[in-house]
Amino acid sequence: MASTAAQCQLDSVSGMTLDNILQFPEGHRILSCIQCGVCAGTCPYGDVMEYPPRKIIAMLRAGMVEKVFHSESLLNCVACYACMTKCPRDIRLTDILLPLMKEQALMHLPELPAELQKALQNTLRYGNPMGESSRKRAAWVKNAPVPVPIMNEIRRPVDVLWFVECYTSYYPRGQDTARATARLLHAIGADFAILGNEEKCAGECGRLTWEPGLFETLTDYNMAVFQKYQFNRMVASCPHSYNAFQRRYIPLGFTWPVDPVMAYLAYQIEKLKPLLTRKLNYKVTYHDSCCLGRFNDLYDEPRALLKAIPGVKLVEMVHNRMNSICCGGGGGGMWLDTYFKAKGHERLSERRVKEAVATGADVLAVSCPYEVSRFEDALKVLGFDKKMVVRDVTELLDEALEEQP
Ligand code: SF4
Ligand code: SF4
Repeated sequence: MASTAAQCQLDSVSGMTLDNILQFPEGHRILSCIQCGVCAGTCPYGDVMEYPPRKIIAMLRAGMVEKVFHSESLLNCVACYACMTKCPRDIRLTDILLPLMKEQALMHLPELPAELQKALQNTLRYGNPMGESSRKRAAWVKNAPVPVPIMNEIRRPVDVLWFVECYTSYYPRGQDTARATARLLHAIGADFAILGNEEKCAGECGRLTWEPGLFETLTDYNMAVFQKYQFNRMVASCPHSYNAFQRRYIPLGFTWPVDPVMAYLAYQIEKLKPLLTRKLNYKVTYHDSCCLGRFNDLYDEPRALLKAIPGVKLVEMVHNRMNSICCGGGGGGMWLDTYFKAKGHERLSERRVKEAVATGADVLAVSCPYEVSRFEDALKVLGFDKKMVVRDVTELLDEALEEQP
């Protein structure tokens, strides 16, 4: 994977014409493409794209980009990182080239699918894709089983700033995860606080969707809020925001170490393990989130947490770790279900839960806030909701904690 410096360098071409991409080292890399087709073969939507990634690279090199811009191929990319992770030439398709091309393609599309357009407008206006009031962002705290300090109320430095993110803050099942996380942080004695109503979306999905302007607005806002407070590290509930902070916010002065909640808890497993005394007799299969797994190699941490729970039997799906099938929610896919349905494409979340059910597990464990809603809906649509439930790893850990309030 390329260095952050190289990435930042290429980021600076955002907004320029595609021809300019070739002038930068990471963009120039497309000339090393051997047209092996691994990217197209591994792409979960490669079969429905008019121009799959291999062909896009070939057309880019042949100067036929206009044709790509006038197709809907790029709209099908759900930023799953499969092509980029497996490319033998390390061409940064998912996080650099495709978003840059999407930005150009946006200008050529007659209109964005309504659901996606609404989510982007909501994020700009309200700081979250659901269009919820920013004043309700911390409402979940009222029903939290433990005190959840808020930075502008406690007015003191903390060790950990917990970035809760949108779905965890507003979506009811996401709030369950937030409450479970709060209890786990308390249990291990973390000195933490949240930003409460001052927090806004980190913006990564807006960037990968093809809205760099929206991303810049959010990064500017969030950086100004971070700089108001003193904290040693950040912990993020959403792997997408973790990616943004770790890779995109650095050029803007983001200097704090950051971990996704899964990794932060796994690093403290020796503190956590003695507290997990309730036996959960569940057969669990774990879905690797694309951002945590393929993009950040965090495959073992969630599994270590699940294995620490007494009674849990962990079984693997056919496609796991690097080969995991995307839930379909990244890169704007979260708001493209209606579009995919109208096109007659199988939703990736449905493809994935079929694999999960085939393991015979009764729990599908997840680690990204998008996945709970996507998989619960897919189980219901396919009539599997009596066979399997979806639980965030934090919810399972919370259930296994010794003292329930
Ligand atoms: S996997 Fe990489 S080298 Fe192979 S066709 Fe795709 S972009 Fe080119
Ligand atoms: S990131 Fe995933 S969905 Fe997008 S082109 Fe690559 S393999 Fe396909």
